[in-house]
Amino acid sequence: MPLMKEKTVLVTGGAGFLGSHLCERLLEQGNEVLCVDNYFTGRKQNILHLLESPHFEILRHDVTFPLYVEVDEIYNLACPASPVHYQFDPVQTTKTSVHGAINMLGLAKRIKAKILQASTSEVYGDPEMHPQREEYWGNVNPIGPRSCYDEGKRCAETLFFDYHRQHGLEIKVARIFNTYGPRMALDDGRVVSNFILQALRGEPITIYGEGQQTRSFCYVDDLVEGMIRLMNDTPGDFTGPMNLGNPGEFTIMELAETVLELTGSKSEIVFRPLPENDPMQRKPDISLAKSTIGWEPTIRLHDGLRKTIEYFKAFTASI
Ligand code: NAD
Ligand code: UDP
Ligand code: UDP
Repeated sequence: MPLMKEKTVLVTGGAGFLGSHLCERLLEQGNEVLCVDNYFTGRKQNILHLLESPHFEILRHDVTFPLYVEVDEIYNLACPASPVHYQFDPVQTTKTSVHGAINMLGLAKRIKAKILQASTSEVYGDPEMHPQREEYWGNVNPIGPRSCYDEGKRCAETLFFDYHRQHGLEIKVARIFNTYGPRMALDDGRVVSNFILQALRGEPITIYGEGQQTRSFCYVDDLVEGMIRLMNDTPGDFTGPMNLGNPGEFTIMELAETVLELTGSKSEIVFRPLPENDPMQRKPDISLAKSTIGWEPTIRLHDGLRKTIEYFKAFTASI
C-alpha cells in the first residue's frame, strides 16, 4: 500500500480572526496545519481549542523575518487588517505586507509550495468603478493614513505576480472584502464589532459621517470556503486576483438599524466625523468567483449578525 501523506498547510496570521477559522476548516478537511503568528492582533484564545488536535501546531514568529519550514501550501494572512490596528504602527504594517510577502514567496520558491495571498478590496482605494471588478486598477492615495495598508497590499500583489512570472511560482491572489463573524477582535474599531458592542452595552452607536457610505459584509464561513476553493479548485496557471466578498450592499445607517433590531438595544445613534480617505462605496463583483470556483456567499447578513452577536455576548460575559 502506498504511504498516504497528508497535506501540510502553513497559515500565517493563523491566530487572527480569519486565520483561526481557516486553520479550523483545514484541520476538519484532514490536513496538517502549521499556524504562524506574532500575536500583534491575533490571540491564543482563538486557536486554543485546536491544540487538542495532534495535526495542529503553533509557531510564534514575525513574518518580516525569514522562515524555514517544510510545507505543501501557504496561506499568507499575516497583517493587521482593521484601520485602528494597521495605523497603530504604519511602518510595521508596510513591512509586514512587503517583507512578509518576500519571505513567504522565498519560502514557497525554495520548497515549491503553492501560495495564496490574502489581499484586500482596499487595493481599489476609493473606487470610481462600481461594483469593483478585478480588472479595475483602483484609486488609491499613496501618502494618506490608509496608505501603509493599501499600498503595502498592492506591493504584495506585485511581488506575487513577479515571483509567478520570474520564478514560475504557483500563486493565488484573493481580494477579500469586509468580512465579519465570531472572533473579530473587540477593540479593532471595525464597524460591525463597534456597533454590536455599543448596542450590547447600551452605549451610543457611532456613525462616521452621515452613514450613507456603503459596504458589503461577508460572513466568515463563506469567506473561508471561497479561499479554500481558490487554492484547491483552480488550475495551476490560474492566479487571480479574485474578488471574494458578499455583493449585498448596505449603508452604514442600515447596518446600525439592523444591529439595533437584532440586539433589541435602546442605544441612540450619534454622528462622528468621517475619517480621512474613507471610501464612499464598496461592493464586489463576484462573477469571476462564480464562474471559476462556483462560489457565492450563502449566509444572509441577518443570520451572520445573529451568530456574531451571540459570540460577543458570550465573550463579553466571560471577561
Ligand atoms: P487579524 O488582525 O485578526 O489577523 C491578522 C493576524 O496576523 C493576527 O493574528 C496578527 O497577530 C498576525 N500578524 C500581524 N503581523 C504579523 C507579523 N508581522 N508576523 C506574523 N503574524 C502577524 O485580521 P483578519 O481580519 O483576520 O485579516 C487576516 C488577513 O485578511 C489580513 O491579511 C487582512 O489584510 C486580510 N483581509 C481581511 C479582511 C476582513 O474584513 N477581515 C478584509 C480584507 C483583507
Ligand atoms: N526565505 C525564507 N525561507 C526560505 C527561503 C527564503 O524566509 O525557505 C526568505 C529569504 O530570507 C529571502 C526571501 O525569502 O530574503 C526571498 O527569497 P529569494 O530566494 O526569492 O531571494 P534571495 O534569497 O535571493 O534574496
Ligand atoms: N464606521 C462607522 N462607525 C464606526 C466604525 C466604522 O460609521 O464605529 C464606518 C467607517 O467610517 C466606514 C465603514 O463604517 O465607512 C466601515 O469601516 P471599517 O473600519 O469596518 O472598514 P473599512 O473602512 O476598512 O471598510
